[in-house]
Amino acid sequence: MQKMLAIIGGGAAGFFAAINAAELNPQLQVHVFEKGNAFLQKVKISGGGRCNITHACFDPQELIKFYPRGSKELLGPLYIFNPDHTIDWFRKRGIKIVKEDDGRMFPSTNTSQTITDCFLQETEKNNIHLHLQKGVQQIEKLDSGKWKLILSDKKEFVCDHLLITSGSSNQIWNMLKQLGHTIESPVASLFTFNIKDARIKDLMGVSVANAFCSIVNTKLNTAGPLLITHWGLSGPSILKLSAWAARELAAMHYQFQLKINFITESNYQSCLEILSANKKSSPKKTVQLTNNFNLPSRLYKSLCDHAEISATLNWSDISKEKIQLLAKNLTESIFDVNGKSNFKDEFVTCGGIKLYEVDFKTMQSKIHNNLFFAGEVLNIDAVTGGFNFQSAWTTGFIAATAIAEK
Ligand SMILES: Cc1cc2nc3c(=O)[nH]c(=O)nc-3n(C[C@H](O)[C@H](O)[C@H](O)COP(=O)(O)OP(=O)(O)OC[C@H]3O[C@@H](n4cnc5c(N)ncnc54)[C@H](O)[C@@H]3O)c2cc1C
Repeated sequence: MQKMLAIIGGGAAGFFAAINAAELNPQLQVHVFEKGNAFLQKVKISGGGRCNITHACFDPQELIKFYPRGSKELLGPLYIFNPDHTIDWFRKRGIKIVKEDDGRMFPSTNTSQTITDCFLQETEKNNIHLHLQKGVQQIEKLDSGKWKLILSDKKEFVCDHLLITSGSSNQIWNMLKQLGHTIESPVASLFTFNIKDARIKDLMGVSVANAFCSIVNTKLNTAGPLLITHWGLSGPSILKLSAWAARELAAMHYQFQLKINFITESNYQSCLEILSANKKSSPKKTVQLTNNFNLPSRLYKSLCDHAEISATLNWSDISKEKIQLLAKNLTESIFDVNGKSNFKDEFVTCGGIKLYEVDFKTMQSKIHNNLFFAGEVLNIDAVTGGFNFQSAWTTGFIAATAIAEK
């Protein structure tokens, strides 16, 4: 008899798993239930409408370093399905994936429509049953081992295998709790820091090539490009920090102190020595025009202003205290962070099903037979760059393979 697979959630992981399961086992009848009024909504808007589909990092050992949560568990699955496989999967369906300088990868057409069109064509080709505006409101395990779903139109649907790809849905997490699963509470990841501070006021758009950012009184830190925005600080170093420190920052209610070294090549002491040497080497030069560290000149000037160094002050006339203050501003500036903002509407949640309750060889629940998970419903998340989709493709593929082979 034909086996039935029901997938809850018509997003990235749900579609990818549906297509792979149907291809691997044409005997399987695959149904995707989506509560919204369109499929693949996040894929559509992803990457600014271009869909940053994966990242040009092909060594699983390196790849897992981009996942604050899930790195250990994803290692094995990434040997089975990693960015190489993603590129190949789309190539076989006529889609070329191209790499940008920073490693992010996009469809060569530069539009996410290419990906959503591909998924929809593949579902049609594989006779996958798509159910739109059919939210799953209840999940029941039957004595037979099958699963019964109660849908938003009150209809019932019984299936042999159930794959949950509902993303960050509290409603589904609550149902899973009732089934005995444990949910790591959801908190935001990947956000920018709100800061009101004279040092960065009016400097929006200024960026620093490599800054070292750390959260005061913790061991949490990152290095990378930093961007000043009109509401505070952003850029890869801040986004990475927000992801790695997601739980700690939520516990601090996003009120904390951020320490920045704007010149990662020097610490306070070596910076002080370099600045002090200007007294001998360039006594007649004005301090504000001696930018030893090639910082953006507006930022350097602002940090000088903050050390009360006037625009006309020469190195010969500067006091030791002011040089110390400037060195501090350059290497150990402390900023009060007061809240967070979304990064370009891209919100990623950390939290979800605790990973030790899932067998990552099959993506099957360790609590219930024939219950599988893929994508953001799991407590897995990554920094920006295409890694979140890669996790959806990888876990979706593993689940599809296990279900198809059952
Ligand atoms: C604006 C934005 C841009 C992004 N850009 C990128 C990017 O370029 N690259 C990248 O790697 N990541 C990106 N991400 C993250 C990426 O979109 C997610 O990691 C990914 O979509 C997760 O896939 P998923 O299938 O697990 O969940 P989702 O894509 O969220 O899909 C889950 C689906 O389940 C449905 N659902 C929920 N509850 C029910 C229910 N009870 N019944 C039926 N259906 C239900 C939802 O409506 C949804 O359609 C972006 C995120 C956002 C918000």
